[in-house]
Amino acid sequence: MQSLQQIASCVAGYDPNALPVLKASEFIARLVPRVQAVESLAIRSALGRVLARDLVSGIDVPSHDNSAMDGYALRSTDLLGTADTLIKVAGTAYAGTPFGDTVPIGQGVRIMTGAVMPDGLDTVVPQEFTRTEADGRIRIPQGSVKPGDNRRLRGEDLARGEAALKAGRILTPADLGLLASLGQAEVAVYRRLRVAFFSTGDELRSIGEPLEAGCVYDSNRYTIWGMLTRLGVELLDLGVVRDEPAALRAAFIQAAACADAVITSGGVSVGEADHTKQIMAQLGEVLFWKIAMRPGRPMAIGRIGCANSEPTQGVGEPGHQAILFGLPGNPVAVMVTFYAFVRDALLAMSGATPQPLAPLRAVSQAALRKKPGRTEYQRGIVSQAEDGRWQVRITGSQGSGILRSMSQANGMVVLHHDQGDVAAGDLVDVIAFDGLV
Ligand code: AMP
Ligand code: MG
Repeated sequence: MQSLQQIASCVAGYDPNALPVLKASEFIARLVPRVQAVESLAIRSALGRVLARDLVSGIDVPSHDNSAMDGYALRSTDLLGTADTLIKVAGTAYAGTPFGDTVPIGQGVRIMTGAVMPDGLDTVVPQEFTRTEADGRIRIPQGSVKPGDNRRLRGEDLARGEAALKAGRILTPADLGLLASLGQAEVAVYRRLRVAFFSTGDELRSIGEPLEAGCVYDSNRYTIWGMLTRLGVELLDLGVVRDEPAALRAAFIQAAACADAVITSGGVSVGEADHTKQIMAQLGEVLFWKIAMRPGRPMAIGRIGCANSEPTQGVGEPGHQAILFGLPGNPVAVMVTFYAFVRDALLAMSGATPQPLAPLRAVSQAALRKKPGRTEYQRGIVSQAEDGRWQVRITGSQGSGILRSMSQANGMVVLHHDQGDVAAGDLVDVIAFDGLV
């Protein structure tokens, strides 16, 4: 296992006191291990879980050429190019009940969607294109079908031996259907990641407690709970921990012992007088970063746990260490740093192939001030302009303590590291909240 210093030496331009967002992401990607344990689940229980092995199809799907329409199956060589074609109907092929006989030349079969194509027939003319003659023959108007039309080929969905899904994929409803189409009852997924979290700060009160002067209700634990729940990880909520060395130490040790990752909020600012940073540093290998971003400048990152033996990965194993994300305390900064760093890191730890958030390009409805040299995340409201293009305006106050700005917003405008002021009408990147796991 590489030390944090070794990882830092691999990140070009690493500077813990002015760390560009992309460098912080690169560091974290190198730091986090992936869960190893795999479990087998019934496919319905696997929605949203991470596939642990490539899924190779053992069969052709579909297993036979079949009809894509209700109509008449025929031989394309029987079609007359220059006139309507008349065919005699030899019988009917139903989905699930094939037409078993040989179809004579010049004849066809009435066929239903999904029914196996009888031997020798290669084309289906949809019912609505045809007319039935007085003598029972079917008239197919000239030019109404081309050879091969409306026929689904054996293996066209999935050929036997083909990788249907790659390991690292987060299983979607379509994937469950695909698994079922292969006749697969169970699927191998990585075990769920376990994440423990707590809030630090003497001014914090939990809901139900009286709010004395100068105190605030702990809101971070609820936003963190919500974001983690959407990620589908197992949660351990350790509450509010007072700024007392013994209480903090006990909370960090408990969190690290039973989780793959520990998320805290508060107590990591520069010049913070409390004990949080000190205890973090005592319990493992932890770096305190100043990230070139706004909001969310201070952050702690590292590994904590039993620091007195060789680190191991499995929760519950001797020497287990958890990855620590010490987020800033400000409620908006918590969410921004979570989406900027923690989300991708937890997905990678869960075994998922990284899927960076794809920003929308939206027209900024107003000018925005921005200093080059840091990444800014402004809360925005994205809507569709009359011409159909995306447009975005910034929510009122952007103070990092103003959680309402986050709640009003439906996306984050990302103003990149090197970017300067934005003029009204310029295109900017926006990460839409909707669909953010
Ligand atoms: P800190 O990073 O600990 O200096 O906290 C920065 C600001 O965020 C302070 O105003 C704290 O009161 C506030 N804060 C810290 N933790 C929380 C929390 N869990 N819920 C709401 N506000 C918080
Ligand atoms: Mg504090």
